[in-house]
Amino acid sequence: MLRVALRVALLTCAIVLVLILILGFLFFGDQPVLGISLVTTVLVFFAVYTTMVLLLKKRLTRILEELDDLNQKRFFDHEPREYPDDDEIDDILRRLDETSFTIEKEFYRLKRMENYRKDFIGDLSHELKTPIFAIQGFVETLINGALEDPEVNREFLKKAMRNVSRLISLTNNLMEIAKLETGELKTTLSEIPLKSVILEVVENLQFKAEHEQVQLIVDDVDSDLMVLADRNQIRQVLINLIENAIKYNKPGGTVHIGTFMTPQQGNKKVTVYVRDTGIGIEAKHIPRITERFYRTDKSRARDKGGTGLGLAIVKHIIEAHNEQLHIESESNKGTTFSFTLQNAALISG
Ligand code: ADP
Repeated sequence: MLRVALRVALLTCAIVLVLILILGFLFFGDQPVLGISLVTTVLVFFAVYTTMVLLLKKRLTRILEELDDLNQKRFFDHEPREYPDDDEIDDILRRLDETSFTIEKEFYRLKRMENYRKDFIGDLSHELKTPIFAIQGFVETLINGALEDPEVNREFLKKAMRNVSRLISLTNNLMEIAKLETGELKTTLSEIPLKSVILEVVENLQFKAEHEQVQLIVDDVDSDLMVLADRNQIRQVLINLIENAIKYNKPGGTVHIGTFMTPQQGNKKVTVYVRDTGIGIEAKHIPRITERFYRTDKSRARDKGGTGLGLAIVKHIIEAHNEQLHIESESNKGTTFSFTLQNAALISG
């Protein structure tokens, strides 16, 4: 029973009955008119009810089903919908579908964020625990007597200090990544001279490289090469990649930094590479290496002061530039990280 059709049919009947009775009494007197009026009214009732059911039932059922789906958070029906009647009910259906789509997107976005937050807090507490417990251990040992022992007191303080430094870099990296992920850190593109950015980073990391007995070599980079990029962010990418190339290298190893053009793309893109002769990354780790806190060898990474966030930051920055990051590696031979940038202009001179 379609209640709206019943209501419309009854209302129409009442109007028709009243009209026929008034007209009948006015023109023909009472007796024959009453019978005809009743028959007409019944016929009108069935005609209106049937028409309404034929026109509305299927479409109202569709609206109710879609609302039920929405209510139950069932979003799996992505078939393209049709609205053949182009009337107000089709308008309602169309808007319902649009609303459902918007709610679906928002629903999954919030779900993703919730999962992300849960993972992030889990990872973070795990990462914080190690240096904090280490500091606690060294300080306790010092308090319990090691402070007076000149053989070990400085050593323990230095170890505690190393863990404090790790906490500081972890906090800095976390702030950086949070800003990138929330979009607070905007990527502002401008024309930047790539060579001078590379040289500046290499100069700053020279001391670290010498300490690890690794040689930093800048290959031929055109001095006039300008790229469209965010200077600070690209500097950060280079720092993270070159630092890793030093950290995961071997004594006597090298790190080559350079650029090349991609003629297939009409030289529109410049590829920047950082190639090391280090320990390499096994193929199975490569797809996950840019996930935050993912490490191939946790203890080695921690010994080297790694936070597990360096490559996640690199990936975010490269994605924010709409560019590509590539990783090629061979165990025990070395790794090449490369990323593309947009060639802003090639000034001769
Ligand atoms: P971390 O702070 O631990 O270095 P990253 O995000 O920078 O964190 O790197 C993630 C992991 O990827 C490292 O722990 C290391 O296992 C691996 N890795 C990164 N760069 C290199 C490299 N150049 N050679 C070998 N392994 C690397």
